[in-house]
Amino acid sequence: MVSQKEKTVVIIGGGISGLAAAYRLKMLSREKGLMLNIVLLNAAEKAGGLIKTIKRNDCLLELGPDSMQTAKPWGLELMKELGLENEIVDTNEANRRAFVAQGNTLLPMPVGFRLIAPASIIQLAASPCLSLLGKLRAMIEPLIPRNAAFSNGTVPDNYDESLSSFVRRRLGNEVLERLAQPLFSGIYTANPDKLSLRATMPEFLNWEAKYGSVVTGLKKTMQLKSSTSATSTDEGVRYSMFVGLRHGMESLVDALINRLTALGVEIRHSTSATLLNHDEAKKQWTVTLADRSELKADGVMVALPAHAASHLLSSCNGEAAQLLAKIQYASSAVVNFIVERKNVLHALNGFGFVIPSVYRKSILAATFSSVKFDGRAPENLVVLRAFVGGALFPDILKLSDSEIRDKAFADLTQYLSITSVSRKSSYLESVVTRWPNSMPQYDVGHVEVVREIEASVAKLPNIIVCGAAYSGVGIPDCVKNADIAAEKLILSLL
Ligand SMILES: Cc1cc2nc3c(=O)[nH]c(=O)nc-3n(C[C@H](O)[C@H](O)[C@H](O)COP(=O)(O)OP(=O)(O)OC[C@H]3O[C@@H](n4cnc5c(N)ncnc54)[C@H](O)[C@@H]3O)c2cc1C
Repeated sequence: MVSQKEKTVVIIGGGISGLAAAYRLKMLSREKGLMLNIVLLNAAEKAGGLIKTIKRNDCLLELGPDSMQTAKPWGLELMKELGLENEIVDTNEANRRAFVAQGNTLLPMPVGFRLIAPASIIQLAASPCLSLLGKLRAMIEPLIPRNAAFSNGTVPDNYDESLSSFVRRRLGNEVLERLAQPLFSGIYTANPDKLSLRATMPEFLNWEAKYGSVVTGLKKTMQLKSSTSATSTDEGVRYSMFVGLRHGMESLVDALINRLTALGVEIRHSTSATLLNHDEAKKQWTVTLADRSELKADGVMVALPAHAASHLLSSCNGEAAQLLAKIQYASSAVVNFIVERKNVLHALNGFGFVIPSVYRKSILAATFSSVKFDGRAPENLVVLRAFVGGALFPDILKLSDSEIRDKAFADLTQYLSITSVSRKSSYLESVVTRWPNSMPQYDVGHVEVVREIEASVAKLPNIIVCGAAYSGVGIPDCVKNADIAAEKLILSLL
């Protein structure tokens, strides 16, 4: 039944999750004939959370995310709905490869290697990334018996395993240390001994269960796809595996802010929520703000990192607050450098490189940003982006910005053979961006913890949580999670 009375929803958090949820809520409310007033609160001065783009020296610098997966279509769909279709840019076709460090040099990633496993044993055998013994161990993967827990061909609902355990078991320690760990670290900044495979890459577990081999499962899946490097959309337009936006990822945030404003959503910047309370008799939520003022609402969407959500919910749902606090976070920093192209001796014929943690370098990975996407820097310059910190190397974040910058640049200099008279003059500009407690750690058991959180939050009416903490850290996952949360909240308000 359609409700005629106007309802108010307060969304707390203005990252991509909160913004996407506000948009979906507004669209759904129109579809369903529900008069909905939406107020979005965001602690920071500008909405967008981790998504930030700046310009320096005619170069475009991404301070947070720089691209988005296209195999998960929800981010692309949102961009198109917002009219950004002509802004979407593919990665540079000529250089679609990545490198992995081995000692002090960079080697090309084995062709067809997907995060954990090779789709082609021949390509792996041809790669210099593994020793002969390491290759032989990986090559016998199809002969390793499937996990006894998967004997009926499926993964039991409550099964979970760490990345380390799985890769060691199936492909051996070298594949873990030299390839899987650094590749995963680039995405989750995680400790591989704790990272849940079920929460991050369940398809690998499913392939073992179904085919008795992840290499076979991966090969079959890739054969099914028309291309390994492109995704087709309904309209037949093909995108590369990752896409960016011509003017940077922050243009997605700007488009959302503009659309939400046009739709009548009230966005309050520099506004923190501090307490949440529910009055059962009045069926009303009260959101207390940092300045002690209050907002009344029929429904609440908490689109915050789990630690902030835990803090906020502690006033109304202690159980949910405790469960939310179980999700640990890692901190990281991104250091962007603008360097004269002539000073970099490396061919930069790829999108970047990852470094296995066993080498204990200061940086986890680096992106050749102006190679990955055209138009990011004038011809004579390159933009290099280094990542530091994460779950395995938290101590680097205790250093000052200039110390982090120096350490990051020393690693880049070594791997990319950056030359100049003095280190200081080798880069024209650098920007250090810290992201404290920004990366949710999907530890073993994460899927179960999320189920418990959702069940606990649902004990109070018309409240829902969404964000990167729950079922995927990438922007497309956040958009999907926000869409699902918006649908559930609308249904509960009708
Ligand atoms: C360095 C880095 C690089 C990344 N690269 C990529 C990439 O290339 N591609 C990709 O898909 N993903 C990437 N990610 C992941 C992705 O950016 C994030 O998972 C996603 O942006 C998280 O969005 P969110 O809205 O859930 O949270 P956030 O962006 O953290 O937003 C939370 C918002 O809540 C606000 N807030 C906090 N407390 C309160 C309060 N009490 N009241 C009101 N507001 C509050 C904050 O101001 C913030 O705006 C990257 C992440 C990092 C850290």
